[in-house]
This record gives sequence, C-alpha cells and structure tokens, in this order.
Amino acid sequence: MKNLFDLTGKRALITGSARGIGNLLAGGLAEYGAHVLINDRRQEKADAAAQALRDKGYRAGGVAFDVTKSAEVSAAIAHIENDIGPIDILINNAGIQRRHPFTEFPEQEWDEVIDVNQKGVFIVSQQVAKYMMARRAGKIINIGSMQSELGRKTITPYAASKGAVKMLTRGMCAELAEYNIQVNAIAPGYFATDMTEALVNDEAFSSWLYQRTPAARWGKPEELIGSAVFLASAAADFVNGHLLFVDGGMLAAV
Ligand code: NDP
Repeated sequence: MKNLFDLTGKRALITGSARGIGNLLAGGLAEYGAHVLINDRRQEKADAAAQALRDKGYRAGGVAFDVTKSAEVSAAIAHIENDIGPIDILINNAGIQRRHPFTEFPEQEWDEVIDVNQKGVFIVSQQVAKYMMARRAGKIINIGSMQSELGRKTITPYAASKGAVKMLTRGMCAELAEYNIQVNAIAPGYFATDMTEALVNDEAFSSWLYQRTPAARWGKPEELIGSAVFLASAAADFVNGHLLFVDGGMLAAV
C-alpha cells in the first residue's frame, strides 16, 4: 500500500507544460516516477523544458502541438502512441485568460478562450481516450478553476469555459468509466503564476483575496502537485468524475 502513489512505468502527457502550473505538475509526476511528455506549441520550448527535467535526473521528452488544432493533435498523439509508448495519464492543463467588461468583450477573444480552455480539452481527450479505451486503462485530469463554480466580473468567457470543463469531466466519466478510465478535475483557487501576475501585483485585489480566502494567502503552484499525483495514481482507481478544489477553503466560505 505504500506504493499506492508510485507512477514508475507510467507515461504522462501534460498540455501547456513548458511553464506555469503544467510545468510544476510535470516535475511532480516525474518525481513520482512517471515518464513525462512536455507539450508546447513550439517544439524548441517543449524540448528545452524537457531537457531541464532530464538535467534533474527525470525521464522527459518534448512534443509540439496546439490543443485547438485537431489535425496537429491527432498526428502528435499517434506519434507518441506508435513511436514513444502508451499515454497512461493525460493532464489537460493548457489554458488562457482574457479580461474585459462583459458588454465590451471582443467576440474574437471569446472564441480564443473557448477554443483553448474548452474545445482543447475535448480535442486532446478524444484523441487520447481512443487509445486508452483499447487498453482499458487510463487517467485523465482536467484543470478547472474556482470559475468552474463561481462567476467573476470581467472574465465571463473564462468562467463559461471552466464551467464546461466541469461538465466535460462528468460527461467523459459517464462514458469512459466502463473502460477503466478515470476522468477527474483539479480546480485551483488563486495561485501566483504568469496568468495571475496582474492580480498578484494589484494590492487591492490581493487584500480582497486575503479576506476572502480562509487560508488568507495566495496558493503556491507546487501545492497542486499532491492532487495531481493522487488522481494519476492507483490511489484514485475508483475516484471518477470528481472536481478536487485546491483553494485554501475559498469555495467553502462566504
Ligand atoms: P500560464 O499562462 O502560466 O500557462 C499556460 C500554459 O498553457 C502555457 O504553457 C501556454 O503556452 C499554454 N497554452 C496556451 N494556449 C495553448 C495552446 N493553444 N496549445 C498548447 N498550449 C497552450 O497559466 P497557469 O499555469 O496559471 O494555468 C495553467 C492552467 O491552470 C490553466 O488551465 C488555467 O486556467 C488553470 N488555472 C490557473 C489558476 C491560477 O491561479 N494561475 C487558477 C485556476 C486555474 P505558451 O507559453 O505558448 O503561451
């Protein structure tokens, strides 16, 4: 039972993982023994991030695709499955944020947010799940958000996309569970990364955050690793369709 979280011999693909939360999750899974595949739209960025992990003694490789482009995704997943090895774990992490008042939100930016955060999860999961179904084994972890549950001014398209990630998680669970595939989501609260840099630097926002979060602080991205390892491991073999909030208690309190 002590090996319940061991990922040795497993291969994990993490989308958008050359930097930010995805990169930390890749390092975390590698620390637990997984061979991690770093994805970025640019091959050289994916390769550099993979090299940085290999320099630490981990097993890692780089793979380029844009999660919104189904032909690219399909070719990349086929390449991994045929030439590298089976994908045991998929983390749908790639995501973007755009901020504008609702009535001024440019339609093009709505499309960008929905394409990456929502359709990207559909496209990548669909391709990977076909191989997982044939093997009757797999773990898919989607990265949701507080906005999977809570609205907030100026980011309605992001909230719409992350609400959809919650229902993609449940829908895929309903359909794939009989193939021994577990589909869960991690819903982070507020973490200090490039995506939230403007908010971290905004003193008024940070002081609101300290009041609003029972833990009274920003999350540290490395605090998401344990949840990802858990959901990727045998410890979660009967956990399915679940959203795991990692938010310092924010959703539990008003
Ligand atoms: P970052 O902006 O730091 O990183 C996002 C990553 O996604 C980058 O590597 C980026 O690549 C990649 N990406 C963007 N578009 C695409 C695409 N079309 N195809 C492939 N990769 C792409 O964000 P975070 O690390 O903060 O966020 C990671 C995830 O966590 C997101 O889903 C986000 O919504 C979620 N999240 C973050 C929270 C936070 O507090 N930071 C809170 C809740 C959820 P590139 O470098 O090329 O832009």
